[in-house]
Amino acid sequence: MKRIGVIGGGQLARMMIPAAINLAIELRVFAEQQDAPASLAVTAVGDFRDVRQVADFAADLDALTFDHEHVPAEVLRALEDSGVVVAPSSQALALTHNKVVMRQRLSELGVAQPRWCEVSEASELESAVESVGGYPCIAKKPTGGYDGKGVRVVHSASDLEDWLSQGSLLLEEKVPFVRELALLSARRRGGEWKPWAPVETRQKNGVCSEVIAPAQSLSETQLGVAEELARTIAEGVGTVGVLAVEVFELADGSLSVNELAMRPHNSGHVFTELSTTSQFEQHLRAVADLPLGSAALVAPGGVMVNLFGGVDADAKNDAWERVPEAKIHDYGKGAREGRKVGHVVVTGDDVKSLLDKAELARSALHAAR
Ligand code: ADP
Repeated sequence: MKRIGVIGGGQLARMMIPAAINLAIELRVFAEQQDAPASLAVTAVGDFRDVRQVADFAADLDALTFDHEHVPAEVLRALEDSGVVVAPSSQALALTHNKVVMRQRLSELGVAQPRWCEVSEASELESAVESVGGYPCIAKKPTGGYDGKGVRVVHSASDLEDWLSQGSLLLEEKVPFVRELALLSARRRGGEWKPWAPVETRQKNGVCSEVIAPAQSLSETQLGVAEELARTIAEGVGTVGVLAVEVFELADGSLSVNELAMRPHNSGHVFTELSTTSQFEQHLRAVADLPLGSAALVAPGGVMVNLFGGVDADAKNDAWERVPEAKIHDYGKGAREGRKVGHVVVTGDDVKSLLDKAELARSALHAAR
């Protein structure tokens, strides 16, 4: 039996559990607390920043992977130096640790992306803004951002005074996108690579609210460009496991890369019901160096909606009664305003009616609160 370790006990580790069972993989989760969403598979509780604790956990694993991107680079490198198979590698993960490093690497790979530059001094700001196309532009903290935190629209220099005093920033052209897409794929160490169909992601307040799969009305040319882009990044970065590439679609149909994640991603949850192989199964196959599964869709379409705040048992029963085809995924997290606590997937023929059904289930789930 292959033994795979996961650092982090959140919902992504939780959703790897059923996939691991079916693959006969022994999954061991290193969490910050026993009472984590992935508690069923937690075998160690500790601090992922402490190289000794992580090394002890990783000692007899076939490979180590992640539920989040916060493990420090020096911890990852120490593990690799001692012979642990880290997937994705510290080198690949460096891109997700720092958005400036990511932009640099994507430039080297020749991938289409927004105009960007790094600013470290207030005195450089005006020329930097000009180089990305003027105001309004987008500023991002290079490290530590998620769900839109650490991203700001900038209209004048005064919008950045506080942030610039804290350290350097990534400045980007504000892309006039018509739609946001995510390109999910998985890569195995030897190079085997399989993409899923592109999906559309819809955000509210900087957080993904709905996903529509496959993204509707993409032309053959766009599908080709999307696939080439995801493959170039997966191979160029040499990642192992699931890669999510968040992209902007522009009015002329061109695609521009926003962000990368090298792990299962919120935008790929729809594939648990919509694809022959879920992103969690594919991630584990890739990390365990097993042949990848088919990423073909098993229905014409699917919709995923995120649940925020809390999932209450009565509300869940109500939602199941109203929308029996809704697959409700409850992460087992405590309720907190705005917290992502679960998601709903509905699959079928017509995306418009799937959106209505998923929204009906979501409103029943949110109503009780
Ligand atoms: P996070 O890491 O917090 O998810 P992102 O870089 O994905 O941050 O940005 C969050 C959202 O902000 C994106 O989904 C998009 O809607 C918007 N955004 C980010 N970068 C740009 C940009 N260059 N132009 C226009 N909108 C952007």
